[in-house]
Parts: sequence; structure tokens; C-alpha cells
Amino acid sequence: MSAARIVRVSGALAEATGAAGASLYELVKVGKRGLLGEVIRITGDRITIQIYEDTTGLRVGESVALTGAALTVTLGPGLLGSVVDGVGRPLPHIAEQSGDFIQPGIAADTLDAVRRWRFTPAVRIGDPVAAGNVIGTVPERPGIEHRIMVSPTMSGRIASISAGEFTIRDTIGTLEDGTPLHLAEPWPVRQPRPAEARVPAERPFITGQRIFDFLFPVAEGGSVAVPGGFGTGKTVIEQSLAKFAEADIVVYIGCGERGNEMAEVLNEFPRLLDPHTGRSIMDRSVLVVNTSNMPVAAREASVYLGVTVAEYYRDMGYRVAVMADSLSRWGEALREIAARLQEMPGEEGYPTYLGNRLAKFYERAGRIRALGKPERFGSLTLISAVSPPGGDFSEPVTQASLRVAGALWALDASLAHQRQFPAVDWETSYSLHGGVTSRWFASHVGADWPELRRATLELLQQERDLREIAGLIGPDALQDPDRLLLESARLLRETVLGQSAYDPHDAHSPVEKTYRLASLARAAYQVGLKSLQRGVPFERLDLAPVSRALGLVRRAPPAEVDARAAEAETAIRALETVEAGP
Ligand code: ADP
Ligand code: MG
Repeated sequence: MSAARIVRVSGALAEATGAAGASLYELVKVGKRGLLGEVIRITGDRITIQIYEDTTGLRVGESVALTGAALTVTLGPGLLGSVVDGVGRPLPHIAEQSGDFIQPGIAADTLDAVRRWRFTPAVRIGDPVAAGNVIGTVPERPGIEHRIMVSPTMSGRIASISAGEFTIRDTIGTLEDGTPLHLAEPWPVRQPRPAEARVPAERPFITGQRIFDFLFPVAEGGSVAVPGGFGTGKTVIEQSLAKFAEADIVVYIGCGERGNEMAEVLNEFPRLLDPHTGRSIMDRSVLVVNTSNMPVAAREASVYLGVTVAEYYRDMGYRVAVMADSLSRWGEALREIAARLQEMPGEEGYPTYLGNRLAKFYERAGRIRALGKPERFGSLTLISAVSPPGGDFSEPVTQASLRVAGALWALDASLAHQRQFPAVDWETSYSLHGGVTSRWFASHVGADWPELRRATLELLQQERDLREIAGLIGPDALQDPDRLLLESARLLRETVLGQSAYDPHDAHSPVEKTYRLASLARAAYQVGLKSLQRGVPFERLDLAPVSRALGLVRRAPPAEVDARAAEAETAIRALETVEAGP
């Protein structure tokens, strides 16, 4: 087997002969520098390898070593707070060895092998353990208990188990058949981790972004596609959710986007506190970085790596969110590799299996009952940005995403142009999770939440229809109730649906605040309507003070929201007492 030699190099792909015994998706080390690669095609003893690193200088005749293992990630304590590249090498370590750029061929383990973790067993000698059983815990980060689980491929009876300080390489115990137990286990990233069962969602995934929580809520364990042209705010949304969404664990995959955006994340995240726990958000985050200047094949792998880490914490019983920015770059990597393989191209040059691969990736989202005891429910919510060229949603990656995602948050260039952010097009966006999320909001936030949501969507729809009419007959020809409707819709868009990612208090909106603002905007419209019915002319209803007051509610620090909301109510009541006559 050591006789495998390169006969051809083409971009990120190489072909080698003499590789009898190789298996599909086996990891290989290529050439003198030992570049990491994966076998993606086998014909007799000839293999095609997708190489995760810069292949410049790689020559025909260099050798290829088979490793016998698939591309795996080591799952264990120490993942939280880490920043890894598309194949799981920690970035700070790579930088230490090779300066700012990753030199090809550098091997670095995902997890620190020297660090000791305090392990407390949860099982005793003689206990039977099945696949997935929790055998003990390690305090990984403040507030986060790392549950050490028996590998999904293992079961037996505990022969020995010790409490104490261990590295991920140490043996912490054994099964009766002699199988050693460890704090960490390798897992092949392309293979979904098994669960006992898929279970229905029970609650919304709360994003802290009003337009999503209120109008297009997704359930915990759901998946969302966020397509939008360049500059429509996809990255800002992904980053805002990574910062503020209610999740125990967040995996952020920077896939093929600009390096400076990822640099921002790396600078900003360590300084931010989780609004729900007050702890550093790095304590709950794992960052997977494969920016546009990094090798294309590793980009293809990076999304699987990220989602595998997410499944692992899901299996512990946590609520995990995965942000992927962007799946289009993943699709382009797939296309580039397929083209070099000279496969028959499908639509727009993407391989014919694009839709299938994408569906399998989205399927890794879900809410599950984990394998083994004690009973644990975990969820993996997936929010994927999609960047269609020219903002044209009819292209293959967007279309394939729409077929499988449970919700669509469509971003619109003209809204972004008007600086209405998040630039969510409320006409095309939807969520298939309306039922379960409405029930939760109604019982946890406000009984009239579903009705308020329905009325708000209706107002937006009526506004659109009216604008068309106004475009034909001129705005002055509209009746007073219609003019009030247009003004109220504007108030709603500007003060409730709009949200600044850069204002310290507006960037995150707890659901109570979202509900409050939406209720106030609705009340302003209803009070206005009543005054019109009393005979007050529209000209006399000045919504500007209400708009200003709602703006202050939005930007108020949490402790001042009540006071500002009371002022907004006063401004709304003033509409009630406007005199009808001169
Ligand atoms: P994309 O990733 O879709 O190309 P970005 O997320 O980088 O777009 O957003 C482009 C710009 O739009 C940002 O730099 C910012 O100026 C503006 N923007 C987007 N979302 C918001 C927001 N919620 N609040 C304020 N500005 C925003
Ligand atoms: Mg972006």
C-alpha cells in the first residue's frame, strides 16, 4: 500500500495509482509534506484525492500514505471556546507553528492533549452501560457540564472507572471486555451521530431579532435558509444570532466568506457576554473558519465538521445552534471539485447530487432523544446563509435549500438599500413552525401573541395593496383610514421590525420587549382608527411623537424599558383625545 504514487495533480485534486485497499472517504497524507486529503473516487488501484491544503509544488511521483481512517474530529472536552479550520486544526496553534498562514502539511490535534480535566464518574463498577450512556461529567467551561458518553458504537459492563484529573488520552476506566474508556472519541464527520429517536419540537428557537421571533419564528431543532444578495445583511444576521440567540451551545461556521469578517468575529466574541447567562460567549461557542483565501476542499469539509461538533453537544442534552455562512460557498466548492472530476454537470454546472447532499446536511438539524441513560433531549437548530449570485433566488443552491428548510428568511436588496434592517422580505419569507411556536409564545409571553402576529402580517399586506393603489391614483386621493394605515405600517416597520445590530440595547430584543413594541404599535393604529371614527381628520393625528417614543423603548437599557413604554402609552393616549372640530 505504501507504493501509492501521484500520477496527476489538478488544483485541489490529485490522482494516485498503486493504492489497492484504499476506501472511499479514507484520509490520506499526500506527498513529501504530508498534505491532508480524502479519497473521493476509486477505480481499481487508482484513487482520486481531494486535498485540503494548498497543493502548490506538489509533484507527480510523490507518494501517498493511506491512514485507514475517515476524516474525523475528536469530540471531547476543550471544544468550547476553540477556533478551528475546516478540517479541525486549532487556528491559534497553527499560527504559532507557521506564523499567520497555515503552512501545508501541519498536523495539529483539535483538542489539547496535555490539559487535565476533572472527571466525576456517574456509574459504578458492574453497571451495565449501553451506547450513549453518560458515564460521568467534566466541568468544561463555566456553567457548562461536559457529559462523557459511551460511544454510540459501544456497550457492556463497567469493569473499572476512576474519578480524578485526566487528559483526553488517559484511560478513565474499562468495560468488562477490556475496552478502554476515554474522555474523548473520534467521529467521522460525514456520518451523522445516531440518536434514540427524533422527537417533535416543543418551543421556539429564540433569536433576539424581532422580525424573526415575531413574524417568522423557527422551532428549536428546525432549519432556516437565509438567502440574500451581496450586502443584504446575511453575515450580520448570522453573527447577531451567534451572539444573542437562546442556545446552550453555538457552532459558527465561516464558510468561504471574506477573511476580515471572520477576523471581526474572532476579535469581538471574546469580549461579549451572553445576555442570558452573563458569561463570555466564547464559553458556549465553537468557531469553524474556512475563509475564501483558504483551500476549497477544506471548505467542503468544514460544514460537516461543524455540524458533527454540534450533534455531539446535542447528544449531551443541549440546545445547540449552528450558523453557517454561507452554504453557497460550500456548493461552489462542490462544483469546483465535481468539474475537476469531469463529472456530468447538472444545473449551472453544479453536480447533479447537489440537492441530495444539501438535503442530507439539513437533515442533521432536529430535536432528538439521545441514546442511552439518563434520558436527555437535545436539539440542533440550523441557520444557513445562502448567497445567490445577483440575488437571483432561482439558482440551484437557493432552490435546493428551499426544498428542505423549515423556514425561509428571504433578504431583499431594495429593503437593504433603504436601510430597513434586517432586510427581511415579509412577503416571501415563511416559517412552517407557526403552530408550535405560536402556542409557546401565547402561553409564555402574551396570550394574544398569535392574534397580534396575524394582525401585523395583515397590516403589512394591506399596506402593500394600498401602495399599489396610491401609485395609480396618487396618495392624496386615499381615504383617511387608508392614510392612517400607511402611516401605521411605516411606524411598525421602522420601530418594531427594524432593528439595529450596532445599538448596544437594540441589537438584542428579549421576546417580552418584542411583544411590548408590537403591542404598542398595534395600539397606536387602533386608537388612531377610533379617532377617525369620531370624525377627527387624519391631518390632526400626529404619529411622530409615538414613533419617537417607540424608538426610545427600542434603545432603552433593560432597566428602563418599563418607563419608556409608559411614555409611549401616554403618546398613544394623546391620539385618543385629539379634538374632532376646529
Ligand atoms: P451580506 O453578508 O449579506 O453580504 P452583511 O451582513 O455584511 O451583508 O451586511 C452588509 C451591511 O449592511 C453591514 O455592513 C451593515 O452596514 C448593514 N447591516 C446589515 N444588517 C444590519 C442591521 N441589523 N443593523 C444595521 N446595519 C445592518
Ligand atoms: Mg456576508
